Amino acid sequence: MARHALVVGAGVVGLNAAHELRRRGFDVTVVERDPAGHAATSHGNAGIVVPSHFVPLAAPGVVTQALRWMLDPMSPFYVRPRASLELARWGWGFLRSANAAHVARAAPLLLALNLASRRRYEELVAELGVDVGFTPRGLLLLCHTDRGLEEEARGAAAARGMGLDAVVLDAAEVRALEPGIELDVVGAVHVRDDAHLDPGATMRALRARLDRDGVRFRNGTEVTGLRDHGGVVEVDVVGAEGARVEAADALVLAGGSWSGALARSLGLRLPLQPGKGYALTIERPSQRLRTAAILVEARAAATPLGDRLRIGGTMEIAGFDPRLTPSRIEGIKRAAGRYFPRLPRAELDGAAPWMGFRPVSPDGLPYLGRAPRHPNVIVATGHAMMGFSLGPISGQLVAELVAGERPSVDLTLLAPGRFG
Ligand SMILES: Cc1cc2nc3c(=O)[nH]c(=O)nc-3n(C[C@H](O)[C@H](O)[C@H](O)COP(=O)(O)OP(=O)(O)OC[C@H]3O[C@@H](n4cnc5c(N)ncnc54)[C@H](O)[C@@H]3O)c2cc1C
Repeated sequence: MARHALVVGAGVVGLNAAHELRRRGFDVTVVERDPAGHAATSHGNAGIVVPSHFVPLAAPGVVTQALRWMLDPMSPFYVRPRASLELARWGWGFLRSANAAHVARAAPLLLALNLASRRRYEELVAELGVDVGFTPRGLLLLCHTDRGLEEEARGAAAARGMGLDAVVLDAAEVRALEPGIELDVVGAVHVRDDAHLDPGATMRALRARLDRDGVRFRNGTEVTGLRDHGGVVEVDVVGAEGARVEAADALVLAGGSWSGALARSLGLRLPLQPGKGYALTIERPSQRLRTAAILVEARAAATPLGDRLRIGGTMEIAGFDPRLTPSRIEGIKRAAGRYFPRLPRAELDGAAPWMGFRPVSPDGLPYLGRAPRHPNVIVATGHAMMGFSLGPISGQLVAELVAGERPSVDLTLLAPGRFG
């Protein structure tokens, strides 16, 4: 009889973990609080697979830049000041990590994880057998200013030093790549290793595949507590049929931004802040982008998703507040207008704003590994801005751990207990 693994959370990390566990013959149950099983953040993000993003969020210069942005209501970053010990500790952890030594340690790991995940995406797309819009056209880092392009050109040199295929393009070369959209840019860096796919379509296809493979889903069911009795994990769940206790041989904690509370029931401190981001998806835009792009100075992303164009960005650290901040959405619209001057404002205004919470750790690295003192609990969260990109490799690493295999990537820097 196959061993039973219980996965908390039907986000991109949870579904990939379920898929990899099922491939290894485990009996798998996914427990998801949302009644529709619809993990919002994993469905509505920008869908970019990012080997180019090897610099962690906590990096030199980020704090100074963030403080400047705090004063601008339309800026892409904001921390809502509030009296919270958890936020203060998280901020302190971020400050301590934002240095060159941390970046030098973390960058090779983030790159290896993202490259492995991109390869795994290609296999997954073939396995799923449906069109999820996988587009291996790379990522354009579009620069509106000379200064922006100079900085990105330095980044491209660093990327080439790490083995990536990154080239600097002038404005004419960018326009030749993107004939369907008017661009107001001085140039771009094109990282050809990146790719994009439609996150909603991918999540739906993966879910359908898991259903076919016999993975059980308990939607509308919340996990409220965990206990590891050395060999058997007991899980308190509350759903439509009331509260009960489930048992599993292994538990995967893939609850995204909400994972911290459950970790506490195991005595594990997992500092996480929900980093709220917004996106606007235009149906049949009159301007057609072909390659996923970062609007560099605006810190926004634009992704072509079939007949649609998704523009998103902003990192608001303001707790689990689902309200949309109009000035931040206005900031995204204005950014789009600057880079894509012929994109009608009415098309942006006609797109309903969406928001999601990114699970952000203080050092910009995911938590991936066994919970200290609870070897049957595998933590897989904290992927912040690159959770969609890292979903497949995270799922694979989780399954390797649960199956007792040697992890294919050294997980030391991702240890869930690294903050004590
Ligand atoms: C605007 C925006 C753009 C982005 N663009 C990109 C991009 O281009 N590329 C990229 O790689 N990443 C991107 N991201 C980040 C990415 O979306 C996230 O990192 C990723 O979706 C996180 O996935 P997850 O599975 O960890 O968490 P989630 O998707 O949040 O899933 C966790 C699930 O766990 C469930 N859950 C939590 N607690 C419990 C519980 N106690 N019991 C039961 N269920 C529970 C939740 O309901 C949720 O459905 C973007 C994010 C935003 C906001």
